[in-house]
Amino acid sequence: MNQEYTSHPVVGIDLGTTNSAIAYIRGGKPELIASAAGQYLLPSVVLIDPKGNIIVGQDARDALVAMPDRSIAAVKRKMGSAEEFVLAGQTFTPEEISALILKELKRRADELYGEGEKEAVITVPAYFTDEQRRATKLAGELAGFLVERIINEPTAAALSFGLDHLEEDRTFLVYDLGGGTFDVSIVEMFSGVLEVKASSGDRMLGGEDFDWRLVDWFSEQMLAEHGVDPRLDIRGKALLKEEAERVKMALSTEESITISLPLVTVKDNHPLGLTVEVTRARFVSLIEDPIDQTLERVQEVIRDAELTVKDIDEVLLVGGSTRIPLVRDRISALLGRMPRSDVHPDEAVALGAAVQAGLKAGLLSESGLIATDVAPFSMGIAVLAEGPRGRARPGGFSPIISRNTVIPVTRSQKFYTSEMGQTAVEIEIYQGEHEWVKHNHRLGEFILEGIPENWKAHEAVEVTFRYNLNGILEVAARSVSSGEEMSITVQDALNRLNRQEFEESVQRLEQLWLDVPQGIEEDDDLEEMNESLMEDWDLLDELPEDLDDPDEDWDLPEDDEAPTMVHEEGKVLVRQAREVLEGVETSLQEKLLAAILELEQVLQDEEVDRIRQAMNQVTDLLIDAEL
Ligand code: ADP
Ligand code: MG
Repeated sequence: MNQEYTSHPVVGIDLGTTNSAIAYIRGGKPELIASAAGQYLLPSVVLIDPKGNIIVGQDARDALVAMPDRSIAAVKRKMGSAEEFVLAGQTFTPEEISALILKELKRRADELYGEGEKEAVITVPAYFTDEQRRATKLAGELAGFLVERIINEPTAAALSFGLDHLEEDRTFLVYDLGGGTFDVSIVEMFSGVLEVKASSGDRMLGGEDFDWRLVDWFSEQMLAEHGVDPRLDIRGKALLKEEAERVKMALSTEESITISLPLVTVKDNHPLGLTVEVTRARFVSLIEDPIDQTLERVQEVIRDAELTVKDIDEVLLVGGSTRIPLVRDRISALLGRMPRSDVHPDEAVALGAAVQAGLKAGLLSESGLIATDVAPFSMGIAVLAEGPRGRARPGGFSPIISRNTVIPVTRSQKFYTSEMGQTAVEIEIYQGEHEWVKHNHRLGEFILEGIPENWKAHEAVEVTFRYNLNGILEVAARSVSSGEEMSITVQDALNRLNRQEFEESVQRLEQLWLDVPQGIEEDDDLEEMNESLMEDWDLLDELPEDLDDPDEDWDLPEDDEAPTMVHEEGKVLVRQAREVLEGVETSLQEKLLAAILELEQVLQDEEVDRIRQAMNQVTDLLIDAEL
């Protein structure tokens, strides 16, 4: 009996925007599990066909053209959002759609191992937020997996490579350009320990965007020739999209390709087609800009890791879009070396996830490999922010775990009461990189009570952040003198849905999965349904600009405080200062009043600098007054 069949099976899953894959450990090595038809990649597309069957994968993908109103692609871009999809009259959450994809993968594992519990490690882009990670974990659970861990895709890619090269101490750059996401990380391997030093990426950039650029170019040709925009015809648009991808792939090996489509759309009952030659140079001119953007991220991540180009020993290219010669050329030129050619762009992530799963299950204990990861965002709490001379304003962000800290990690920091006699504090938890919490992403909050009454700043509260490898955060706050403690876990996927809802969803998916309804009842409200599906389709079209991006703060400029925000803060300060004015010793009272009046005066106009100056004056006086 093989060792790997003794404990319960573990698998690694690459749940991709475009394609997904599942791998397991066989004889101490990771290997992909093929579908019954012998395919390794599973297109991440879900279709409910006119008979009511759920179809996942290539057939669903093919039907995107014929049945755009019954299929869903690129749901990963919606993970963690509240958006819902209507498919054949039924409503699905992004987690449920992802669960259907995962069920299809699970089928492969079930065939290999038989039914029964399976543990899974699932990968996500490094810059996925906690919410998106939780949604992914939930999707895995809905599909019937025990989700052992959520890991970053570049970590997984490096892991798949690491297993074969344990003797080498190296610094890797992992560049992952897929269909819908771009991810770049620095990974260091030292004595069999893999550590991700820094990660960056762009959730809205991938091969799909290149397809759409070609579609736009095709459409311009047709506009010029026939005065008709084929993108206005949903089927024409879908057809061009499919053709665009074919052209794009062909241009990875050919210098030029001529397409000839007899029917793209119709004008006055006449079919309109498109015949055109696309050269590689033309394609390059269409995609140069986004590729250059990825190179900026590459430079950024090298800086983040406090390295220079010279420190990179190996470049790993993963993701289908790295087959584009321009990508390889630009990367080689930037980094001054050729990427490794022994990394399989389509398989590396799933294989690495299986390695991680295998490490956990003890299947690879002899490999001597230990993997760590980094926090994708800074995490911390809202505080009174202190300026250069101690001026205090609410809404500042105090990171407790900084971005790119190696995890798992536990960090504690002490904070002090901001008011006299304060017996409770509100701990507001945020993730992000901005110095003001309102630009960051709120994770939760709680109140710690039972702090003894004391002078301002005389009571300490120790706040502890624990962040584990699943990207799950535990926050505790403790009053140092009373020992009173409160904590929350910003995490469990199941918190969001209650148990019952979870079970219902599992049941519903299972039913759908198994049922092959006879003679599907077409939806009463077919028109409405189609409309909403058209919206979904349009949404795909308008990527990347139109999607709301919860990661917006990712590259917010450091100092972009809107004037309105300064005004708000100024007004708060006026109120606070007026409240204490009475109690201030007489020698300062007059000065403080003058400063308040001046602040009120400058708040009338837009001059941020003057407001800030006036605020400083008031705060300085307040600080003096309290001493
Ligand atoms: P994801 O990680 O987003 O699921 P993949 O890594 O599977 O995606 O990459 C899919 C993308 O790779 C698609 O946009 C596909 O068109 C593109 N792709 C696959 N093969 C090639 C190729 N030979 N040349 C160019 N692009 C390719
Ligand atoms: Mg991928």
